[in-house]
Amino acid sequence: MGTSKEEWVSFDSELKVDREAGVQDDPLREVSLDEEKPPPVPPRTKTPEAVAEITVSKQEETAPRRLSVDAGIKSGDVEQRPIRNSKIMATVFPTNAHLAWIIPPKYDPTKLPQTLSASGVGLQVDVFSLVMRHITDDIRFKAYAIGFSRILPIWVVFSIVVLLLMLISSPDGGFSVMVMTFLWTIMLLVGVFFGIIIRKHLKIGLAQVVSEANKHLLHHNLIVGVQDRGQLSCHKVVIIFMYYQTQDCLVDIEKQLRISNSTAKPKPILMTHDEMANACDQLLRDHIQIYIKSFVKRRLLFPTRPSEGVSDFRPKHSPKNHCLCQFIEEEYFNSYKKTWYEKLV
Ligand SMILES: [Zn+2]
Repeated sequence: MGTSKEEWVSFDSELKVDREAGVQDDPLREVSLDEEKPPPVPPRTKTPEAVAEITVSKQEETAPRRLSVDAGIKSGDVEQRPIRNSKIMATVFPTNAHLAWIIPPKYDPTKLPQTLSASGVGLQVDVFSLVMRHITDDIRFKAYAIGFSRILPIWVVFSIVVLLLMLISSPDGGFSVMVMTFLWTIMLLVGVFFGIIIRKHLKIGLAQVVSEANKHLLHHNLIVGVQDRGQLSCHKVVIIFMYYQTQDCLVDIEKQLRISNSTAKPKPILMTHDEMANACDQLLRDHIQIYIKSFVKRRLLFPTRPSEGVSDFRPKHSPKNHCLCQFIEEEYFNSYKKTWYEKLV
């Protein structure tokens, strides 16, 4: 009995020790769990709201409009949700469907998409027609639609045909064919080089047309851009209308421009108020085409999980992706100095 009591006691004491150990362990575990749990939460839910609230308190003059943007983020009410910056409102496709390889795309400038005429935007048909005609009737747009995707494939196909004809015409081979093949290789590479330069200028021309067309749209809280979705068909060039209130971005672009002017070399650049306003407007419009193109390629989204990497920016004027002022800051103000051949192509 004595031994059994001792055993019982010892067993009981082991249990106590185990329990005590368990009790001592548990808080540690809770603490460690508590430490691990919060980090994934803030980036997904809390941070965007918190950031949005901070931006509202910073710029009180725009408070009513910014509040409506916040309400859109917080409330789950789909019907009353205000439109947020960077929302694509309409995509206009070409109306012609035949001979897409040869005939340039045509658009119907009188057919206003419903989403643009709805109460949130309220765009008039005449403004829509003006913008569409400005873009699609311009030679720079047509050259882009026809040439941009196809100039290099056409040159390569043409070069291969030349090579085949050359080989067929001299079946005996020999030194002359070797020399001609060498010359052909140089011709191919020179053609590709010029093709890349032409593509660059087609892109610049398109950005200019889009920049001019956006003059008519900015005060309607819209921006417009062009996306080429095709490889060889030129009927896959679409025109994208995006909702965007640019006032807040313009304020930040002006700040960046002032900093850039004050640190300019060899001496600081002085601008009057009007010059500054025009320069900011021009900068904004000049970047709209490349902004919309990057947006539709999903290059501007903020990471939503650690595996997607880290962004240098936080949501500012657009909830899920870089806004225009952040985009311009990255592309224009903070861009690294290009080498001569990068400038060429
Ligand atoms: Zn912005």
